[in-house]
Amino acid sequence: MQARERPAGAEPAAEYPLRIVKVVLPDETALELPDGATGLDAARAIGPRLAEQAVLVRVDGEPRDLRLPLADGARIQILTTRDREDPDALYVLRHSAAHLLAEAARRLYPGTKVAIGPPIEHGFYYDFEFPQPVGEEALGRLEDEVRREIAEGRTFEREEIGRDEARRRFEAEGERYKVELVDTAEGELSLYRQGDFTDLCRGPHLQTAAPIRAVKLLSLAGAYWRGDERNTQLTRVYGTAFYDRQDLNEHLRRLEEAKRRDHRRLGRQLGLFEFSELAPGMPFWHPKGMAVWNVLEDLRRRENARRGYREIRTPQLYDAELWKTSGHWEKFREDMFALEIEQRDFGLKPMNCPGHCLLYAQAPRSYRDLPLRLAEAGNLHRNELSGVLHGLLRVRHFVQDDAHIFCTREQIHDELDGCLEYAFFLYDLFGLELRVELSTRPANKLGTDEEWDFAEAALEAVLAARGLEAPVSAGEGSFYGPKIDLHMTDSLGRSWQLGTVQLDLQMPKRFGLAYAGSDNAEHTPALIHRALLGSFERFLGVYLEHTGGELPVWLAPVQARIVPVADRHGETAGGLAAELATRGVRADVDASGETLGKRIRTAELERIPYVLVVGDTEAEGETLALRLRGEREVVVRPRAEALDELAQAARL
Ligand SMILES: [Zn+2]
Ligand SMILES: [Zn+2]
Repeated sequence: MQARERPAGAEPAAEYPLRIVKVVLPDETALELPDGATGLDAARAIGPRLAEQAVLVRVDGEPRDLRLPLADGARIQILTTRDREDPDALYVLRHSAAHLLAEAARRLYPGTKVAIGPPIEHGFYYDFEFPQPVGEEALGRLEDEVRREIAEGRTFEREEIGRDEARRRFEAEGERYKVELVDTAEGELSLYRQGDFTDLCRGPHLQTAAPIRAVKLLSLAGAYWRGDERNTQLTRVYGTAFYDRQDLNEHLRRLEEAKRRDHRRLGRQLGLFEFSELAPGMPFWHPKGMAVWNVLEDLRRRENARRGYREIRTPQLYDAELWKTSGHWEKFREDMFALEIEQRDFGLKPMNCPGHCLLYAQAPRSYRDLPLRLAEAGNLHRNELSGVLHGLLRVRHFVQDDAHIFCTREQIHDELDGCLEYAFFLYDLFGLELRVELSTRPANKLGTDEEWDFAEAALEAVLAARGLEAPVSAGEGSFYGPKIDLHMTDSLGRSWQLGTVQLDLQMPKRFGLAYAGSDNAEHTPALIHRALLGSFERFLGVYLEHTGGELPVWLAPVQARIVPVADRHGETAGGLAAELATRGVRADVDASGETLGKRIRTAELERIPYVLVVGDTEAEGETLALRLRGEREVVVRPRAEALDELAQAARL
């Protein structure tokens, strides 16, 4: 018989000599294995202990199931239960915990239909259709059952399966969601089985349930099948799992802390802002919130003026022609609110730049006018889906500390550098450590590759000149230019992008902007967009959570609260408040008639930096009794000295 062609990936026929695959380990040593060897085989070849503890194999950087064969030349890394903080290792652990949850749900609530159960950033969920609605009490029952499964022992088994067979199998079980998934899944299908539960799943999964040392079910929520509200509403059970009990405790502590620091809760507690169902995603700023807002606004004005920015004001609503010229109508329209007026299409501005370009073009410009730094904290609207709105962090109406710098190509470097200097100065005022990232050309970019090469190189050069390490987010730039994004990490370890500095060679061209050069010829200016704190709304939301509401004295809505001990001290209290106000301190009087202790407690809850208790001694006018935020002691100080200190602290 002649030798047949062996189909790729098939087992070698007996008459062929055994082939060898070579894989490369992280320390660059090569490991030879028989053809068809899996990640688990590789682990075994290294040592039995490694094989026992293995949870996942990373193949050329991608997480893969230990049971799958390795390709010749692959670079592999075996992850074990000791990689307890590795995101891929946690992912496979949590995915496996989700399968245990589904097994538990079907056993405890017979007739339950299972839908999907993926791992997510800090845990996992599984969507179920329970035969009867379940309440919070189900969380404890399900969690106990999952723990019982782990104690009893579970092995995850993988099996490849044909489409017809998979459909028959899930139809027989009455699992209609799985049948639908079989019908719409792409590529080869596989099953994972543990205990009496089988899931349609690509994996990867653990070998056994033993590494799941800590599991916690956290909450229930409604979720439509495939996220479509026309479909059945399912019950989503959220949970999380860890390789170590301590890690779970730490995670739960952080969740508690995050809840305590939720800016929506703090916003109400401190009387800063509210929302209404009648204006989704658009905050109402109450007087105290506005006091904080105005501090940001004053800071913006003062620092802009010091740096040669000039204030302008441009319209809210523009004819669609403007958005067509800017490219927004084509690239950003879904994010805009559009309306028709007298048969003309209009759009509410989602960004200030096109208006600023119009304003630039309203006067002749010469190289002597450049750089022209135009600032406007304009009102912006973006059409975010109602489902993603989240307090001040995701809104439809917001204001940025925005500015646009029109400059010559030669001025780009210094102008970008000025923006970075400004950004570091600002973040430092708030006690925030600023990190920068570089975002490069996206798929939907305007302009040529040469223009993008130039713009990206300009940003790289200014980062390099400042000695800044900037990780690159490839493809994350704006459609009109690359950007340097400004990030910070909050006190709970969460990373936030706030401001941005962008270099744009497109919009000036599209708007036909020009300036007369020293050569008397016409040139196109470059445009730098920059918002350093980003939107005031988002910045304040993040900053409230970062500080837990304990704003620095200069930013606190009420800097001093005066508490008269008895009614007869009311006049002294009022006089003191007036004096503080003339010295620029935001002070108020609590004359609510509650007990002294209760009023001091209220001031603490409002995170007020200074509480001044006014009794008989203070009425004499020699001294003041100050209570500082976070301290139990009351300090008695000479009156004039205490007032000087307060006035000093209140100013930025
Ligand atoms: Zn799965
Ligand atoms: Zn802009």
